[in-house]
Amino acid sequence: MKVFRLVSDARAFRTASAAASVGFVPTMGALHEGHASLIERAVREHALAVVSIFVNPAQFGPHEDFAAYPRDESADLEICARLGTAMVFAPSVDEIYPPGDATRVQPGPIAEPLEGAARPGHFIGVATVLTKLFSIVRPNAAYFGQKDFQQLRVVQTLSRDLRLGVRVVGCPIVRERDGLAMSSRNRYLSPDDRQRAVALSRALRDAKDDWSRGERDPASLRDRVQRAATVSGVALEYVSVADPLTLEELGQPAERAVISLAARVGRTRLIDNVLLGMKVEELA
Ligand code: AMP
Repeated sequence: MKVFRLVSDARAFRTASAAASVGFVPTMGALHEGHASLIERAVREHALAVVSIFVNPAQFGPHEDFAAYPRDESADLEICARLGTAMVFAPSVDEIYPPGDATRVQPGPIAEPLEGAARPGHFIGVATVLTKLFSIVRPNAAYFGQKDFQQLRVVQTLSRDLRLGVRVVGCPIVRERDGLAMSSRNRYLSPDDRQRAVALSRALRDAKDDWSRGERDPASLRDRVQRAATVSGVALEYVSVADPLTLEELGQPAERAVISLAARVGRTRLIDNVLLGMKVEELA
């Protein structure tokens, strides 16, 4: 497995490779089984699998956890090697944002609600770094988790609108045994908070059960999640029942929906979602 720090080296490796197709998994490191599921798919479906490890400062707000974000590069590299990654690109911040760097990629309305509203500028940071990474790695396909559902839709829209030629593939959420969605940020949770956090996935599962029994009223579904996730120590930020393509809030019963939530558990901000009436693989 090759590990490159410089854009020029990563680009040269890609240019020299005769691989029929390249699968790419962009990450911020602190890899867990959720990331591993994306890497396994990229390895399985392509001659060459590339993983990037880059904690992107542009997608963190001034009061967010950029400095404290978990970093464990040696463990990450072991995981990548074990799974069959051909190249890891792990650049410094200066390498991606060289002195004087000022160009930003502004996504459209898909980036406005939910995380876009809660974290101003977040998706500009995401869209900008992925445009850079896609231009360096030039993948045929890139793999993203449904865990960050709005990010998946933002990147699918980005690739389509800018004609990047990258197929952006959504992959299901990998969960802990009790249902908590795996996340690098889970390691911030105290044991008590870790117990409380399960209320979030349980609330989404309750809504999914309601949906299976025929409930389609967005207000009832939202209410169900809100009530089930209202437990001591969990501060819900939002619960949204939206169209999975546009992320516009549903006012009427629909045959497809995504229920998304964000909450603070202790000092840790967590997000989760459930897709109803369709599978993430159907989005493109
Ligand atoms: P991050 O390192 O948090 O930027 O995540 C890198 C990629 O892994 C993103 O596409 C995430 O959506 C995806 N990911 C993170 N957690 C999970 C999970 N629990 N299941 C599936 N994919 C995930």
